[in-house]
Amino acid sequence: MAVSGKPPYDDSNIFARILRGEIPAKTVHEDAHALAFHDINPQAPVHVLVIPKGRFVSLVDFAAADPALQAGFWAAVAKVARDLGLEESGYRVLTNMGPDAGQEVPHFHVHIFGGRRLGRMVPPAAA
Ligand code: AMP
Repeated sequence: MAVSGKPPYDDSNIFARILRGEIPAKTVHEDAHALAFHDINPQAPVHVLVIPKGRFVSLVDFAAADPALQAGFWAAVAKVARDLGLEESGYRVLTNMGPDAGQEVPHFHVHIFGGRRLGRMVPPAAA
């Protein structure tokens, strides 16, 4: 179910629980600023999520974070995309915020998709 994407941060969300080690994840990268793991319900042959280590709900929320954390997070996103071997074939980075985007998990994250032609950026509006 879609969530609002606006603060306050909910410490019981599933990504907070993954960060605390309460729920397992198929980790592909971890450093001081970010954790990257395979999406449990992949929408492409490669579908990896990257989340910052902190209590942020959306991109706007995260934009107020310590600049070192922000820089470290985006560096991790780029490293993961490169390490997944997607530089030649290409990939898409996406973040969802709020109901219109269908955000499900209220912890800021980006999706990295790759491994096939990804089609239109945004599906047509429903009739
Ligand atoms: P979003 O709609 O942008 O909030 O995306 C949330 C994503 O988290 C979805 O693609 C889910 O499949 C994924 N997800 C939910 N629970 C887990 C989990 N325990 N491990 C990995 N991915 C998950």
